[in-house]
Amino acid sequence: MTAPHAHATDRKLTDAEVQALRERVKTFMESDIYPNEDFFHHHSPRRSTEGVARMKELQAKTKAMGMWAPHLPSEAGGMGIGFMPYVYMNEILGRSPIAPLAFGSQAPDSGNAEILWQFGSKELQDKYMKPLVNGDIYSCYSMTEPEVSGADPTNLQTTARRDGDEWVINGHKWFTSQGEGATFAIVMCASELDQPPHRRMSQIVVPANTPGFEIVRPVPVMGETEGSHAEVRYTDVRVPLTNILGEAGGGFRIAQKRLGPGRIHHCMRWLGQMQRAFELMIEYSLQRE
Ligand SMILES: Cc1cc2nc3c(=O)[nH]c(=O)nc-3n(C[C@H](O)[C@H](O)[C@H](O)COP(=O)(O)OP(=O)(O)OC[C@H]3O[C@@H](n4cnc5c(N)ncnc54)[C@H](O)[C@@H]3O)c2cc1C
Repeated sequence: MTAPHAHATDRKLTDAEVQALRERVKTFMESDIYPNEDFFHHHSPRRSTEGVARMKELQAKTKAMGMWAPHLPSEAGGMGIGFMPYVYMNEILGRSPIAPLAFGSQAPDSGNAEILWQFGSKELQDKYMKPLVNGDIYSCYSMTEPEVSGADPTNLQTTARRDGDEWVINGHKWFTSQGEGATFAIVMCASELDQPPHRRMSQIVVPANTPGFEIVRPVPVMGETEGSHAEVRYTDVRVPLTNILGEAGGGFRIAQKRLGPGRIHHCMRWLGQMQRAFELMIEYSLQRE
């Protein structure tokens, strides 16, 4: 089953409603997000007991306020505000690195939930998307490879071969963000080797506890390992054929569906972060002798 396109069923917000939404988000940032930043600097919201507990409290608040999972339609467990209102909301969420997690819209879980909603079977949605959207589990997206340039993903070398009713996946990935701690990965692999380059790839769900799924190391980015942009090896990893998203060979189409909106959302968060940095700089310049 392919689910209907995200946002198809939800009502379009008026400009005034988007403004009001932004004000509500700003108020919550002032009352609950900024005051907690120092705490989360010392207690990981994913890995420390105190950090996880505090993050759950914040998440319970955004859920109670009806501001949970703004990237998804209500039928998929989200706010149902549609693309543009979420764009404007992201400009505010980007002001703090902990805000997306508190609102249930952190990458790469947000993009994974979107493609599970748009292209996953009901079985995949029940098993993986629902707990993901609820904030009970984390996930990762495994596409980039050390051996080939990510700028041209037609080169990707990870393969998925059919064997009976299973895929057998072999490959080597890195920069798989949130690889450590993820319950499952969505893996981009070449399954249709006789097809033209943009029809070769498929996206397949791989539970992280499947034999052959091995985290090699977190790849540091600017000295930071918290995000765990993992190097991962896939060695004879076997998953059911039904773990595929959409049709075999449809991997590039799904990737574009994800990246198109994803780029805009990332840009808006970076704008928010840049504005905050600019404000901090001005504040500091006025204090410093
Ligand atoms: C913080 C972070 C998180 C990430 N998270 C994920 C993730 O969760 N999952 C995932 O799969 N990937 C992830 N990535 C990887 C990211 O998608 C890739 O880094 C990106 O696609 C670029 O690929 P690459 O690193 O192989 O660089 P390359 O493609 O090797 O590019 C290196 C440089 O060479 C240039 N270049 C490449 N080809 C050409 C050419 N033909 N001509 C001229 N110049 C060229 C590029 O412009 C670039 O300057 C993440 C990366 C970062 C930094």
